[in-house]
Amino acid sequence: MQAIRDAILRDAPSEEIAALALPDTMRAAFVRKDEQDMFAGMESADKDPRKSLHIDQVPIPPLGPNEVLIAPMASAINFNTVWTTIFEPLSTFKFLERFGQESVLGARHDLDHHIVGSDAAGVVLRTGPGVHGWKAGDRVVVHCNYVDLQQPQGHEDSMLDPNQRIWGFETNFGSLADIAMVKANQLIPMPTHLTWEEAASLALVLATSYRMLASPNSAQMKQGDVVLVWGATGGLGGFATQLVLNGGGIPVCVVSSEEKAELLRAVGVEHIINRSEEGYQFFDEAGEPDFAEYRRFGKKIRSLVGEDPDIVFEHPGRATFGASVFVAKRGGTIVTCASTSGYQHSYDNRYLWMNLKRIIGSHFANYNEAWQAIRLVDKGMIHPILSKTYPLEQAAEAAWQVHRNLHTGKIGILVGAPQTGLGVQDDVKRAKHLGRIMAYERFT
Ligand code: NDP
Repeated sequence: MQAIRDAILRDAPSEEIAALALPDTMRAAFVRKDEQDMFAGMESADKDPRKSLHIDQVPIPPLGPNEVLIAPMASAINFNTVWTTIFEPLSTFKFLERFGQESVLGARHDLDHHIVGSDAAGVVLRTGPGVHGWKAGDRVVVHCNYVDLQQPQGHEDSMLDPNQRIWGFETNFGSLADIAMVKANQLIPMPTHLTWEEAASLALVLATSYRMLASPNSAQMKQGDVVLVWGATGGLGGFATQLVLNGGGIPVCVVSSEEKAELLRAVGVEHIINRSEEGYQFFDEAGEPDFAEYRRFGKKIRSLVGEDPDIVFEHPGRATFGASVFVAKRGGTIVTCASTSGYQHSYDNRYLWMNLKRIIGSHFANYNEAWQAIRLVDKGMIHPILSKTYPLEQAAEAAWQVHRNLHTGKIGILVGAPQTGLGVQDDVKRAKHLGRIMAYERFT
């Protein structure tokens, strides 16, 4: 691997990278099938990715049609790696088994180890038959929508394809490895002013937030819309906040500490709610919704911005969903992509139908949405929110921090890159945007 890394670091020409021999095995971070029941019976919070995520040598996957082997120089921790490493809500080996039954190519993924990771910035090493438009040496970021569109349903929006998967979560050969395997239609040119680790921290959460707010498939935020953003310094929320500001909306940001509120003020957010300080208890002792608390929350939003939210950007799930439906404006939209605190939500339907609100379910993003979202970064309109970076060997520690909500923004992982700060292709452009980049990287 060292020869490959050296060639990438000195920006070797395409032909030289294409001619480099690949090793038989590589370093990778993976969970093991024979350990999938290791946390049975434990509370979620006590399940520790540091016990289940291993770093060791594994074989390099065989390349198929329309596929590409890349050398990730950096990756990032997403919450889906937390789910994989705590085997919740189910073991991801179930996804791999199902994929294995689908096709001969799918069977390559059904192994006794699952290489995780759904974000990467790196370099193309090999292209399989049928790949055009990409060649060895290209610097890319990878988005995680893994789909080959062999069925009709996905042809207007690939997220609707029945066989759509999330790479590195529902497939094997993810980004926390010296070599990762992706489909050619997952590649996007790397923004030229970013480092490897900054570029690797973008695609999954940014593209998800973009689809939820800005795409025709979702809430379609307009200029002046008030948008309530939960977890506004987290992965999704950090980008949602930027997208709202960039699109002329008015973010009302919820966070859990004064430190996080301060970070938001530093990037120009005016309306912030510290949920720890306010101490909202949306459920009473019997577990029933507490409408007085919903009202107190709604009043707080009105006191800040003078009106109710046009859009609520939802992902905490059970803990907040009832309140999110309640506080949305008459005719407003609740857009949701997750249920971190629990999948079984309840809300009072009177407040939904009588006030003509709507709930939109959203999941990752199609290729075009991911491309458009990364384009905003390349244009210097949206910035990475990378707070810390660890080497691959400490990926499990990083996953544990995300699991326990000890992070802000994104946590990066160096895979091929020997240190942070490398990979920038356009220093002039970086200098132009450095102030904003540093402001968002203060999310630390
Ligand atoms: P992060 O952990 O980076 O951020 C989530 C933030 O939500 C936290 O920082 C926290 O902020 C807030 N939060 C957590 N629990 C609660 C709670 N009980 N009440 C209120 N706020 C809470 O995670 P991500 O943003 O990366 O992902 C969030 C969820 O979205 C995960 O479940 C993830 O799996 C899912 N997801 C789904 C995607 C999809 O395509 N469907 C794509 C990406 C993520 P604070 O403490 O400051 O309030």
